[in-house]
Amino acid sequence: MAASLVFRLHDRGPEVVREVLLERGWEEYDKDEREVEDWNLYWRGSAFRSSEYHNLLPWQRLNHHPKTVGITRKDCLARNLRRMRATCGSSLYDFSPNAFILPNDYTRFLTEYNNLRLTGGPSVYWICKPVDLSRGRGIFIFQDIKDLVYDCSVIVQRYISDPLLISGYKFDLRIYVCVKSFHPLTVYIHQEGLVRFATEKYNLSSLHNLYAHLTNTSINKFGPFYKTEKGRVGQGCKWTMSKFRHFLHSQDIDELLLWQRINNIVTLTLLTIAPSVPSCPNCVELFGFDILIDVKFKPWLLEVNYSPALTLDCQADITVKKGLISDLIDLMNYTWIDSLRERAYQKLKQPCFHTNQPSHVPVPELSRFKETKYHKKTRGIQASQTQALPLIKTLCHSKRMNQTQSRQHAFVSDCRRHLPPVDLNKINATTATKTRTGGTLNLILGPHSRTNVSVVNRQTCPALAPRLMDDRSLHVSEVTNHDDTETEAEAELSGETYVSSKIPDIRQRGLGFRRSAVSWKLPNIYSGSHEPVRTPLEGTTALNGQHIPPLRVGDFVRTFPFNAATLKASQHKLNVKSVVQELHKLTGRLASGQSDKTKWRRAEEEVKKETESDEDFDSLFWGPKDPPLLSQLFKST
Ligand code: ADP
Repeated sequence: MAASLVFRLHDRGPEVVREVLLERGWEEYDKDEREVEDWNLYWRGSAFRSSEYHNLLPWQRLNHHPKTVGITRKDCLARNLRRMRATCGSSLYDFSPNAFILPNDYTRFLTEYNNLRLTGGPSVYWICKPVDLSRGRGIFIFQDIKDLVYDCSVIVQRYISDPLLISGYKFDLRIYVCVKSFHPLTVYIHQEGLVRFATEKYNLSSLHNLYAHLTNTSINKFGPFYKTEKGRVGQGCKWTMSKFRHFLHSQDIDELLLWQRINNIVTLTLLTIAPSVPSCPNCVELFGFDILIDVKFKPWLLEVNYSPALTLDCQADITVKKGLISDLIDLMNYTWIDSLRERAYQKLKQPCFHTNQPSHVPVPELSRFKETKYHKKTRGIQASQTQALPLIKTLCHSKRMNQTQSRQHAFVSDCRRHLPPVDLNKINATTATKTRTGGTLNLILGPHSRTNVSVVNRQTCPALAPRLMDDRSLHVSEVTNHDDTETEAEAELSGETYVSSKIPDIRQRGLGFRRSAVSWKLPNIYSGSHEPVRTPLEGTTALNGQHIPPLRVGDFVRTFPFNAATLKASQHKLNVKSVVQELHKLTGRLASGQSDKTKWRRAEEEVKKETESDEDFDSLFWGPKDPPLLSQLFKST
C-alpha cells in the first residue's frame, strides 16, 4: 500500500489549504514524527530561502518559484514595466498607471506633475503607496503635491479616477494566476476569482475616505457599512467572479473581450521576469493579480500579490478559495507515484543504484540531493545516488539527444520532476519491466508492491506508459507536478447611473452563484464534472514534438502558451520578442474587432483555422473555449 501524500504548512496556515488537502486524504507534516525531508508539498506565505530550493529532493514541491520579486514588489514591478515599455513599445505596455519610485524619481515625478497641471486638462489625482507594504497599509490619495508626505520608499502612481462603479461603489478584481512552470512558460488563470468592493460610495471630493477609495478587504471589513445592504453590491464587500460575469452579461458587455485583455495583461507582466526566473521544476506559483476596470472597460493592473490572501471571510471566499486550492492541487498533478515518497526516501539508504554516467554535465535545475546530517553519515552510499542525477539531467539536456530522446524531452520539459532511481534488480517487483540496458527502470516501486508496472503506467501515470512501451532503453522515469449612504449628487458624480440604472437586480432572479449551484462553467475536460480529479496531465497532445500543456484543469484555463507560435517561442530559451509579436497581433485583432462583434468572431475563426492547420493546438484565443453564455444558461434554467 502506498503511503499518503504529506503537506507541510509554514506557521500553521493557511487553513483552507489544510482543509482541502486533508479532505483529499493528505496527511499534515509533524516534525516530531517525521524525518525532515519527509513531505511532498511545503506551503508558505513568505519566500523560501535559496538553500531550500537547492536542497529540494525529487519528490518535494514548493508553492513559490524563486526570484519573482520583480513583479511582486511595487517598485520592482514599476521598474520592470518601464523597461518593457522602452523595449516593446508603450502601446502594448499601457496597462499599468504611470508610476514613480520615490525618492529616486522625484524630479521626474515633479516634471510630469507640472506638465499635467499646465495642460489644463481634467483634474489629475495621484496615489502614494509604500513599496513593501500590502493590504492597503500606508496608502493615501492626493491631488496637490504639498500633500505628498512620505518617510519610506514609496511609489506614486496616477490614480485611476474614473473607475467602473456598481451602484456607486468602486471595485477591483482579484485574478488568480498559476505559473506552473517558467521554463517553458506555462500559465493558467482561474476562471473563478473575487470582486472586491469599497464599502462607501465613490466620491472624489473625499480623497481621505479609504472606505470609498480602497478596495482591500482588510480595510473594508472594519468599515461602518461592511454589514449594511449596499444597493446591488449587497452586504459585505465581495462577489464571486461568476456573479460579476452575470452582471456584465446583464449589461450586454462583452466579458470575453475583457477576459482576453486581462489574459494579455497577465502574460505581458509575466514576460518581464520569465527569462530571469531560474528553472525549478518542483515549484508552482499562485499569484494574485489586482485589476481595476475603468469606466471605458479598460482593465488596469494595480499590483501582483506574491501570496494572495487565503483567509475565508465570507461565503464568496469559501466558494472561490476552496475550489481554487483544489484545482491548484489538481494542476500540480500529484499522482500515485508521489505517495511513494517514503519508499524512495528509504531507498536512499541503500546502495541500490549503479551507473557509469559521467558527472560533469551542467544541470540548470535547482533540485539537488540534500547534504543533510543523515546523508553525511551515509556519504559513501550517497555517492552512488548523486551519480544518478546527472544521468537524469543528461537525458533531459544533452545536446546530443537523438530523436527518441527528443520525444522524451517533450515529456520531461513538462514534468521536469525526477524521482531517484531504484534498481529493480533489488526490488521484488515481479511484474516490473527490465530495461534493455540492464535494469535501471526508474519507477518507484517498493519491494512489497503488488502493482503491475504496466497497470501503473496506464492507470496511474499514463504518461509513462507510452515511453516505457516505445523505448525500452529508457533509464529514468519522471513524474509530473491571498470590501450606505446614497445621495443623488453622489450617484451623479460617481457615474452610477451609467451602469446601475440598467442593471436588473441579479439576486431577484433567484439564482445562486455558488460554485456548484449554477453550472456556468465549462465541464471539466477530464471528468465531465466539477469534482476534484486526480488526473495525470501530461502527454495529452503534442505539436511538432513539443508537448502541449492541458487546456484546462478544473477552473484553471491555460492562457500561455496560447497558440502554436507561442508554444514554440516558449520552448528552450523563452523568445520574448516572438511572444510580444504574437501579443501585438492579438491586441491588433482585439482593437479592430472591438466595435464589431461579427468581425470579431470572424477573426476568431481565422485564428482558429491558422492554429488548426498548424496541427492540433488548442488555442485559447478568446479566453475560455466556447464558454456558455450566462444569458443562455439563464434562459434554460
Ligand atoms: P496593497 O498592496 O496595499 O493592497 P494596492 O496597489 O493593491 O496596494 O492598492 C490598494 C487599493 O488601492 C487597490 O485595491 C485599489 O482599490 C486602490 N488603488 C491602488 N492603486 C490605484 C490606482 N492607481 N488607481 C485607483 N485605485 C488604486
